[in-house]
Amino acid sequence: MDHNDIEEQDCLLLVDDHPTALSMLQLVLANKPYRLVTASNGQEAIRQAKYHRPALVLLDIMMPDMDGFEVCERLKADADTADSAVIFLSAVDDSQVKVRGFSVGAVDYVNKPFSGAEVVARVETHLRTKHLEDRLARKNSQLEAQNQRILESINEGIIGTDRDGRITLINGAAEQLTGWGNQSLMDKTVGSIFEASDRLIIQQLINQGQSFVSETIDMLTANQKTFPISLSITPTRYRGEIEGAVLVFRDITEQLAQDDALNKAAEELKEQRERLAHIERLSTMGEMTAGFAHEVNQPLTAISNYARVCERFANKLENPPERLIETLQKMEKQALRASEVIQRLRDFVKRPVDGRALYAPNELVLEIVQLAEVDARNNGVQIHLDLRLDDALVFVDPIQIQQVALNLIRNGLEAMSDSAERDLGLWVTGVIRGDTVQISVRDRGVGLAEGAENELFNPFYTTKKNGMGIGLSVCKTIIKDHQGNIGYRREQSGGTTFWFDLPLADEETQQ
Ligand code: ADP
Repeated sequence: MDHNDIEEQDCLLLVDDHPTALSMLQLVLANKPYRLVTASNGQEAIRQAKYHRPALVLLDIMMPDMDGFEVCERLKADADTADSAVIFLSAVDDSQVKVRGFSVGAVDYVNKPFSGAEVVARVETHLRTKHLEDRLARKNSQLEAQNQRILESINEGIIGTDRDGRITLINGAAEQLTGWGNQSLMDKTVGSIFEASDRLIIQQLINQGQSFVSETIDMLTANQKTFPISLSITPTRYRGEIEGAVLVFRDITEQLAQDDALNKAAEELKEQRERLAHIERLSTMGEMTAGFAHEVNQPLTAISNYARVCERFANKLENPPERLIETLQKMEKQALRASEVIQRLRDFVKRPVDGRALYAPNELVLEIVQLAEVDARNNGVQIHLDLRLDDALVFVDPIQIQQVALNLIRNGLEAMSDSAERDLGLWVTGVIRGDTVQISVRDRGVGLAEGAENELFNPFYTTKKNGMGIGLSVCKTIIKDHQGNIGYRREQSGGTTFWFDLPLADEETQQ
């Protein structure tokens, strides 16, 4: 007999209405490591059991008032005493009586008169079994608690179901994500947390024991809202039979938003790279313009020279052919004009050498309008000038200021390219306002796009298919650098006015 399994503290309750029988039992068990408690009737037995919580009760069946069966039933019905194992003692060796004893919850049966050794052996056996059961139950509840802790510590929602999809387990994350409390979701079918369109298929997958992984599917919350989740369904099996499934899911709203933002950023980056490449090409072109202008100017000068020589030859003829001479003169003039345009272009793209000096804004605007006229003709728009600047002077880098004016003029021309009011032309005006010079460019174009206000002067803001969106931002930098202001007005009668002002040069600067 292994006494290790029997704890010294074990309490035994001996119940018999015959004092002799009770003494006999006490005697038999006296030298054993048990704490013995006795009762001589049913009522007392129940009281003692509730108080001492015995591991085992040796219970006589035949007792007046309350017999052993009733005592046993009452012990089993009370949570405090239900765990005590009951062994019946009876003089009646009748199998029906024994069956009844087992049916009310007894674990064994000892016939009276009993042999001491048999009683001890049965008591020890049952105590050992009881200890093993207790240990198993403790282990089981430890494991369950551990499982629960693991489930609760997982951020993913976990839901267990039976084969019909009825929910049998739900962890804290799942309770929170679904918006259902634990109790209200238990015993519902898993369909309650999916939209109608997905319900049937999920139910079928669980029923047929199929695995399933979805990167994104909508979950339906308790208050009928939906949000995207990633979901995996794994079937659970017991001895090869499909028992149910475990659903593991995660809210991916934020992840999707991040993916979206990332895609947008990548898209923007790509666009900006393309724009930069375009700018790079333009700047290379600009750098090449000087050489290009030189190359083209030479043949143009040669053409005008040849035209002049021809004119001279023609004049020397007996009857100078007037039409020919006139045509040659026109040729010479046009070649000179082309050469001048190229010359201006070259000046314009020349790298600035911080050439700030006193300039007449009148001159600057007139010059740049001449350059812009090529564009104006291409757009079928006429440029009108209204310059009231007298002999005002500004202290500026002329190329930079002309760049600003040209940009505003070209934007105006582009805005008017499809406009019905093209006939009204583009107006460039210059006035003196207090101690500033203000240059305005008024177009009759499509007007500013909605919501453009906050973006207009930001680099890379453009509404044009082939635009780069850096013109206005560069203009702003240049004007700010010259202590001026730049702005715009939406015109009620259609179109837009862009303007900039520059401080008039003071006397000190002029000397
Ligand atoms: P880009 O001309 O390359 O687009 P800008 O910086 O010069 O670059 O202009 C930015 C944007 O401002 C334009 O795409 C256009 O939407 C708007 N804009 C500028 N000038 C005008 C104008 N006169 N009329 C209407 N919109 C304009």
